[in-house]
Amino acid sequence: MNITGIRNQSWAGLLNVFYICLNCDLVEAQGLPLGGYKCRNCGHPSGVRMFYSVIIPNLIDAIQDFYFLHDRSEVQGDAVRLSLETNPHIVIPLLFCTLEEVALEDFLHALMRKQALPLPARIKLLKEHRTGRQRRLKLFRRLTCRSWDDALAEVHEASQIDFPKTFAFYREVNHARNRFLHAGAQWAIKPNHPQGCIDHIWPLLKLFVGLHNRFVCVQHRNENM
Ligand SMILES: [Zn+2]
Repeated sequence: MNITGIRNQSWAGLLNVFYICLNCDLVEAQGLPLGGYKCRNCGHPSGVRMFYSVIIPNLIDAIQDFYFLHDRSEVQGDAVRLSLETNPHIVIPLLFCTLEEVALEDFLHALMRKQALPLPARIKLLKEHRTGRQRRLKLFRRLTCRSWDDALAEVHEASQIDFPKTFAFYREVNHARNRFLHAGAQWAIKPNHPQGCIDHIWPLLKLFVGLHNRFVCVQHRNENM
């Protein structure tokens, strides 16, 4: 999905289209479920809510804002001055990495909640596994008995999207982000990274939906279906 040509419509409105069944936790992409909803997995008409927390669409819209900030500076000359803090080349990868971190934490919370871990225990485990790497390699394995890479391959099988490729790109950008934040290495963020981040928003959203449906959703079918 190429969204960079879309300027006057919210990218979040186009990409954040996932709803979760309040009965069985199945997540699916769909338009606004007005006029009733019947889950195709459990058959329950209990309704849905947006799957992603409000931070995710806010981050997507911030990426859009920064993407077009560069355009505005070209059109208006010096009207918009690009500092390090407002340079889309730097900011878009930072926002993209934050988006992954929020989606990962929300996913782990949902997984632990499904496994009946009370909130204090969930918070404790997340504190014990502070970095994304610890959360993916240790906590995720502990909760699912799968390696992160095996899980990516598993959800990839059920999808047209190459999730391992998207996650390899995220890892590359995250490494560059860390070099920038901890060593001031601005050059670590490559020229292709901002566009790549935008291109990988949709696959990243789909990846966490796939992980959720595989490991959180109760995969039972209503006998009446
Ligand atoms: Zn359902």
